[in-house]
Parts: sequence; C-alpha cells; structure tokens
Amino acid sequence: MNTTRTTSKEPEMKTTAEEQAPLIDTSKMSSGQRAALEMTEAARDAASGRGSFASSLFMGRFDLSAVHPFPQQSAEDRDQGDAFLQRLEKFLREQVDPDEIDRTGEIPQRVIDQLASMGAFGIKISPSDGGLGLSQTNYCRAAVLLGSYCGNLTALLSAHQSIGVPQPLILFGTEEQKRKYLPRVAKGEISAFALTEPGVGSDPATMQTHAEPTPDGKHFLINGEKLWCTNGTKAGVIVVMAKTPPKVVNGKPKNQITAFIVEMDWPGVEVAHRCRFMGLKALYNGVVRFTNVRVPRENILLAEGKGLRVALSTLNTGRLTLPAACIGLSKRCLEIVKKWANERVQWGASIGKHAAIADKIAHMAANTFALEAMTLYTASLVDRDKHADIRLEAAMSKLWGSERSWEIVNDTMQIRGGRGYETADSLKGRGEEPVPVERLFRDSRINTIFEGSSEIMRLFIAREALDPHLSVAAGALNSQLPMKARLKAALKAGLFYAGWYPKQWLPQLALSGAQSPRCKILRRHLRYASKTSRKLARALFHAMVRFGPKLERQQVLLGRFVDIGTELFAITAACARAQSLFDSGNANEIEHTLALADYFCRSARLRIAEQFRGLHTNADRQGYRLAQDVLTGNLDWLEGGIVGKAG
Ligand SMILES: Cc1cc2nc3c(=O)[nH]c(=O)nc-3n(C[C@H](O)[C@H](O)[C@H](O)COP(=O)(O)OP(=O)(O)OC[C@H]3O[C@@H](n4cnc5c(N)ncnc54)[C@H](O)[C@@H]3O)c2cc1C
Repeated sequence: MNTTRTTSKEPEMKTTAEEQAPLIDTSKMSSGQRAALEMTEAARDAASGRGSFASSLFMGRFDLSAVHPFPQQSAEDRDQGDAFLQRLEKFLREQVDPDEIDRTGEIPQRVIDQLASMGAFGIKISPSDGGLGLSQTNYCRAAVLLGSYCGNLTALLSAHQSIGVPQPLILFGTEEQKRKYLPRVAKGEISAFALTEPGVGSDPATMQTHAEPTPDGKHFLINGEKLWCTNGTKAGVIVVMAKTPPKVVNGKPKNQITAFIVEMDWPGVEVAHRCRFMGLKALYNGVVRFTNVRVPRENILLAEGKGLRVALSTLNTGRLTLPAACIGLSKRCLEIVKKWANERVQWGASIGKHAAIADKIAHMAANTFALEAMTLYTASLVDRDKHADIRLEAAMSKLWGSERSWEIVNDTMQIRGGRGYETADSLKGRGEEPVPVERLFRDSRINTIFEGSSEIMRLFIAREALDPHLSVAAGALNSQLPMKARLKAALKAGLFYAGWYPKQWLPQLALSGAQSPRCKILRRHLRYASKTSRKLARALFHAMVRFGPKLERQQVLLGRFVDIGTELFAITAACARAQSLFDSGNANEIEHTLALADYFCRSARLRIAEQFRGLHTNADRQGYRLAQDVLTGNLDWLEGGIVGKAG
C-alpha cells in the first residue's frame, strides 16, 4: 500500500509501523471488501500536496482565490474552438437526424466519416499527431453541443476520446505508442475502453480477464470477456484491463491489473454480442471476448500492474465530458420548456404562469447555470496545468451534473405533460412538432450509472475529503498498528487538532485569499460558503471522533458531507461566474444574471441546511435494518398480490 503519506499542508506523521499499514483499517472487513479497498487505495493518484479548492473545503479552508476571478477562456483559444464548433453545429443541424439514429439503432457511416474528416475524433490530440489540438474547454464546449442534440453521437465520440485510446495515451503513452496510435485514432479509427466484466462493475478486484506473459516475456496472452464495452463493436483499437501475475509485497502476493492496447483484428479477439439498451439505441456497445490474444509487451500502458492507476487517472479528466454533455441536455430542456410553458394554456393561463411549473423552470435555469460554472471552471484547471489535481472537482461535476440534469429532463417531461411521454415520431405523425423529450429522457438515464455511479462517486469524494484527516489521525485509529505506534500517532494527531480545531470556530470577518466580488449579493453567498466550509470541517471531524474507523461504513452519512461540499463548490463557482458575467455584461443582463445566481445560491443553501439537519436527525440505522429485513425475506408478504417470479 502506498497510502501512508501526508500532504504538504499537514504535519509529517510517519513511523515505520505506520508506513507499513494501510491508511484505512481493513482488519474488520470481509476479504472481498479488503481486496476491493486495497486495490483502489493502491491505485489512488495521491496527488500529494497539490490540493484543490474542493478538497480544501472539507478541511475548513475556503480559498476563494482559486475560483474568483472566474477563469476566462482566452480570445485565441475561443476562436480556435469556435471554428470547429461552427462546423460541427452546421453539420449536426443539416446532416444528422438524431431521431432516425434512435429509431434505426444505427449511426449512418457517412455521419461517422464526416465527423472523422472534420477532426471530431481527435479534438484534443495535438496537430503533430493528426488531431485538432483543442483545449479541454473547447472539448467540453463540443460535448455541450453534442449533448444538446444527439446522445448516441455524444457517447460515440466521448467513449472514443474521453476514456478510449487517446486519453490514456496522451497521459501515459510512450513516444513510440503515441507515434503508432495517436494519428490513427485522430483520423477516426474508433477506440474503446474495456474494464467492466459480468462480475466487475464498481469493483475491479474481482476481475477475471487475465494476461499471462509468454515464456520469452515479450508478449502477454489475454483471456477473458469484457462486458458493455462502448464502441467495442466498431472499434479498431481498444484499451483492455487485465489481471497480470501477482507481485509479492511484504511476503504477500498482491493482485495486479495492467492496461493493454489491443487491436481488434488480432487473432482471438471476438465481438460476442451487441448489447442494446433502454436509450442510446445506436450505441456500438458489446461483449468482447479474448482467447489467447497475443499482445506485445510494448503495448502495456504506463507499466505492468499500473492498469487501475491508468483507468482512474483517465477517468479523472475523462468524466468531465459527461457533465459537459449534461449542460447541453439541460440547455436543450430549458429551450423546450420555455416554448411550451409559454404556448400551452390551461386553466386560463399559460402553464408557465402556474407556480408549480414556474418553480420547476426556476430550478432548471439555476442548476444549468451552476453546472456550467462548475464544469467550465474545472476544464480551465486542466487547460492551465495538465497535471492539476481536478479529481474532486471533476467527480463533483459528474455526480451533481448527472443527478441535476436527470431532474431537469424529468421535469421537462412533466411540463410537456402527455406530449413529453409521446415519441417524436408519433408527435410528427399526428402533425405536432416532434419534440424529442422521450428520447432525451431515455438517453440520459444512464448518466448516473456509468463512468462512476453516483454511489461510487460519493464514496470516492468522501475518501478524498477524509484524506487530510486520515493522514493525520489514521495511525491512532488503526487497530492493525502496534499500540506504541498508535499512541505516538495519537499524540501527534492531538497536537495537530489542538491547533486546527479551535480555528474552525473563529469568526471570519472578510473573505480571504482574493479580492471579494463587487456585487453585494454574491459576497453574501460567498461569505456563507466560507463559513459553512468550516462548519462542514467541524462536523466531519465530530463524525470521525464519533465513529472512528467505522465512519467508512456510514455511507449515507458520508454522502451528506459529500453533498454539502459539492453544493458549496457549486455556490462558489456560480457566484464567481456571475461576477465575471457582471463585469463583462450589459445592464439588462446583469440584473437577470444576479437574480439567477442568487436564486441558485438560496436553493443550494436550503439543500445544505437539510443535509446538516440529516447529520443529526435521521432514520439511517432503522432504514438499514429495514433493508436487511427486505433482503432476508422477513417482509416477503409485502410482495403479495403481484405477478412476480413463480414459486
Ligand atoms: C450503456 C453502458 C455503457 C457502458 N460503457 C462502458 C465502457 O465503455 N467500458 C466499460 O468498462 N464499462 C462500461 N459500462 C459499465 C459501467 O461503467 C458499469 O455499469 C458501472 O461501472 C456500474 O457497474 P455495474 O452496472 O456492474 O453495477 P454494480 O457495480 O454491480 O453496482 C450496482 C449498484 O450498486 C451500487 N454499488 C456498487 N458498489 C457499491 C458500494 N461499494 N457501495 C455502495 N453502492 C455500491 C452501484 O452504484 C449501483 O447502483 C457501461 C455500461 C452501460 C450500461
């Protein structure tokens, strides 16, 4: 385990015994839990000392200067993006029919070819390797455009370059690998990422696909089967995660996962099945089988045993495409709802005048605004520094964006009423405008599941949020350590918290770290965010004291901390962006932009208050027991009176 470390901002706490023990006490875990945790811990990109705005929130440090003034895309970068985006938009508008793609379950080859010829498969790949060389911000802008129009094309291009071969190759590829593969994938040879297996969803420790080195060590033979590989049925080259022979660490064998670049026409690679789904009907997603597939050692990404690190790091940036696509979806919904809520008259007024509908519209607009602020901010961090620690900001944008945009598309369906539930083809068939809410709804349901499900995102964010505390206090709480080491760690932790804890109670008069925004209303919300980050840090500390190592099992409780931190990030990004729009806008827009940001912050503050209440007043324990009653069959009578499974 490489997790006994400190960040540069925390005191050095290591002892020899501590260095050998995991940061998280795994002694009370089942072997399956321990294996999963140890494997992901070992693959964590600890990003020691880099820190980030979002991670600091959980320690009560509100560094406004990281977000305000809101990062501006340079005119040059914007112009470069505009040239491509204009071509892409024109092409989508004039030559792509997303309802036909949905109906037929196929993307016409001419669409794929044209996308390839305009460079859409190599947006971020450098021009020297045949790509467009655009920034992360421009890539996200392309995802916004695509997400507003066609989920199937979004998934095709995103699976290819956010998680497929280009992204891990850019991050970890050798010069030779880059020379060989980047020009191919930039030109439009489709790629994919194969991690999931029937038994491996959120838990890679149970991976069955394995790769054994040949006797001369020059090749590996891959055997196994991957499930739900997006683009897998059309790809020319894919990244495959496979178990490689275990490495002995401290006398014990440690499982290893390695990432391989595999060409789909190599002997032994077979697409065994094309999967079909509720939405994204034209996803080229399949079961890919590997039988003695001979892969040269040079096709290992990063290093043998570093596959999970490749996967997690790829996803850190890769998953930013998803919230960007969710922005596009949300904006499209807003456009649909604006028209319909104005046009549709019921009970003597347009439905937008009825408060219940207006309430939904206000939330849609506010959440869209905040999501755009969070995602653009995070993209700008990548553009400033390719090695920026965006793990939390990207995960929060994905978690929050996929959940909020799901509410948005759900509300859009509600506001469209029966027409929301009717297919675009059917609406057209009876002479109405073919508004595709039903398709958007189906296509977007997967967003909270793939690229890190909401539950796993909350665990991931909680782990990172707890990291500074674990670095300081884990030694004291870890029953796997000798008592002497625990006492020593407890003493050091006591010294740290004696300084840190009182500071979390001190009133803070001014916002630190940056010049405050000029708008009073925004300043007020940011002061709240600063104060609340310290309240969050205190509450997290209290929970650690209360639950000790068992806190890791309190998923619902940890989820509340994560949601509070995420809302604070959203408030800060929204206020900083509103100020920057204020600074550049005209008088009319200023007033409305401020109202938008103010409404968002007020709503977020109500949600935060609710989450804080839930820390103390909840029925979590009873709920857990009740769920176990359901699972063990104690409430089987509740399932009576249905047509269910016989017997
Ligand atoms: C359309 C589609 C496209 C996909 N594309 C790809 C792809 O290109 N490449 C690829 O490798 N994979 C892909 N996947 C797989 C996708 O990433 C997985 O579905 C996802 O990781 C979840 O895995 P699972 O479905 O097996 O759920 P499971 O891991 O079985 O989880 C089931 C439920 O339990 C929850 N859960 C699991 N573990 C925990 C825990 N420890 N604590 C709390 N809750 C937990 C999950 O959040 C989920 O709600 C795709 C899937 C789909 C449906």
